[in-house]
Amino acid sequence: MTNTLRAVRGMNDILPTETPRWRQFEDILRALLASYGYRELRTPILEQTGLFKRAIGEVTDIVEKEMYTFVDELNGESLTLRPEGTASAARAAIEHNLLFDGGKRLWYAGAMFRHERPQKGRYRQFHQIGVEALGFTGPDLDIEHLLMTARLWKRLGVDALVRLEINSLGGADARARHRQKLIAYFEANQALLDDDARRRLHSNPLRILDTKNPAMRELVDAAPRLLDELDETALAHFGAVRQGLEDAGIAYTVNPRLVRGLDYYNHTVFEWITDRLGAQGTVCAGGRYDGLVEQLGGKPAPACGYAMGVERLLALMEEAGVAPPAEAPDVYVVNVGEAAGRFAWRAAEALRDAGLDVVLHGGGGSFKSQMKKADASQARYAAIIGDDEAAAAEITVKPLRGDGEQRRLPLSNLHSLLPTSKD
Ligand code: ATP
Ligand code: MG
Repeated sequence: MTNTLRAVRGMNDILPTETPRWRQFEDILRALLASYGYRELRTPILEQTGLFKRAIGEVTDIVEKEMYTFVDELNGESLTLRPEGTASAARAAIEHNLLFDGGKRLWYAGAMFRHERPQKGRYRQFHQIGVEALGFTGPDLDIEHLLMTARLWKRLGVDALVRLEINSLGGADARARHRQKLIAYFEANQALLDDDARRRLHSNPLRILDTKNPAMRELVDAAPRLLDELDETALAHFGAVRQGLEDAGIAYTVNPRLVRGLDYYNHTVFEWITDRLGAQGTVCAGGRYDGLVEQLGGKPAPACGYAMGVERLLALMEEAGVAPPAEAPDVYVVNVGEAAGRFAWRAAEALRDAGLDVVLHGGGGSFKSQMKKADASQARYAAIIGDDEAAAAEITVKPLRGDGEQRRLPLSNLHSLLPTSKD
């Protein structure tokens, strides 16, 4: 087996044993998003490379080394598999003038692509569900996002395993002042900088704070804090967000080192973090990005949003002992004999007409082997059809779970097999 084809490294198949967990997660998400009035947006997986360079920033980990970028050989365009969803949402909002009559609450779900070193909780194709509130000023939507995520953790059963960190990156003035101080500080400590940091010193010093290099930890911890540069407006915004959290009884810590890996953020940034998934502990992250829409060519529109990593949250639900829903048919149809085989199609359709989920045995085999399959399917009933049943247009129903009598039913009276929970 030397030439076995395999999936691309870091890109996972999601097998039928795992998809119930995914759907459970997605169902909870959809219900939550609807309960906050958010509407779904679907954008293409491929975008022009320039979109991400402009939105995320040229000197970020994502743009510098994580994007799947290639030239479309048919027309020479540079295209990129989306590494995140916010840039596409902003682009679509501008392109379709979505904000013409005011702010919009949007969400999206789907695969994202980053060329990272694959490990637990870090993949090259991974999935995010993200929320964007475009065209809203002030702290209201920041607070809404924190409240809805807090509610989500309860619904997913992981609230005891996550904690919230927040910070403020202030406005443009504060960041400009902070930038000068950072450059001076890191210049004074040139010898301690790694290659990445040296390269970013003048192009994007804030990114140095986001380093994952433990050797730089101490230096970065002692760096000038953006929080100390905030003006009154920024402090008021941050204060209101903190007040909103306190009013809602949501615990948080202020982490002055929290800067996020994308350049578009200002004011509020936040991360929900767990200690239960090793190094890949951030399960959800976001913040405000007031300048992005204008920067991409739209009318100025303040905005904020967040994205969560689906794989990491599913792992956390498993960690919390949340059981995936069982997926079993109501009825497994066993059929032996030629007339029975033909009648079985009709019987299975009649069972489905009655609202039941039905697996019709395929591929023949003895009664005994078919009953084994019926049992393994986890169905509540086996519908047994022999030539006798076929002649009478009836089925023999055998309960497979718990006790209960075997009985015969005509196709016209199958409703009694419905589970009461489905009513
Ligand atoms: P990290 O610091 O872990 O690299 P990030 O800051 O790059 O995360 P964001 O771009 O903010 O992450 O994406 C939001 C969320 O998406 C993350 O908090 C994480 O849960 C998830 N995520 C990001 N990159 C990956 C990946 N390569 N594989 C799986 N999940 C990911
Ligand atoms: Mg990253």
